[in-house]
Amino acid sequence: MSLPVWLRPLVPPALRRWRRREAVKSALLEAVSSTQPRECPICGHRGLFTHFGRPPRIDAACTGCGSLERHRLFWLWFGGNPAQLPGPVLHFAPERVLERRLRPLLPDYRSADLFEAADLRIDIERTGLPDGAFGAIICNHVLEHVDDTLAMAELHRILAPGGRLVCSVPIVEGWGRTYEDASIRSREERALHFGRFDHVRWYGQDFRDRLRAAGFARIDEITAEGPAVITHALMPGEKVFVCHREAAPTGAPA
Ligand SMILES: [Zn+2]
Repeated sequence: MSLPVWLRPLVPPALRRWRRREAVKSALLEAVSSTQPRECPICGHRGLFTHFGRPPRIDAACTGCGSLERHRLFWLWFGGNPAQLPGPVLHFAPERVLERRLRPLLPDYRSADLFEAADLRIDIERTGLPDGAFGAIICNHVLEHVDDTLAMAELHRILAPGGRLVCSVPIVEGWGRTYEDASIRSREERALHFGRFDHVRWYGQDFRDRLRAAGFARIDEITAEGPAVITHALMPGEKVFVCHREAAPTGAPA
């Protein structure tokens, strides 16, 4: 409600600032409010989703299970089918919305994290785990935080021949090369340059070259596209990478 012109000079400046802030807040909330129902492939919720992130992404979060766009894209690929993730399965920095559902489906499921509670407290750059120990590894939005040359080689080493790494990262497909700069070290500068205070790069198309250099022979790309983007509120063009370690030659020891 706007004040009459004659009353405005009588309103204390602090109250005027508060009113302006509140007006901006409610305009922002209205701008990001959901209007169209969506469907969550993870929990089955059908209805309005809600915004998430800074800046807010409209309909990013399912109001049934809290899943974000990338979790729903992962689940559309996985489809609740254990054959997609041959065991034993290792899940780095597990997203709780996925872990809650994967653990009962996958008998040999292990979570891993260096900082949070998990089955294994390990560093992705040097896990100390035996060669070829896992049939599948899930690693979403981790590689942009770490020395990815070390981490990718380590993931390849602990995968069994024929095993698969399922991963996603922040990537700008319009960039040929990854943007990284080791001299950018402060939290503020990293947030400015790489999108978050603890990111050390923003990937470009050469993300695939890095995976190949680590030994992954085949990389399949699952892309959020077409009507599924609308139905399930996915981020257009977002990708899940399914990276295959070469199977052992017939007759050779695994
Ligand atoms: Zn859901």
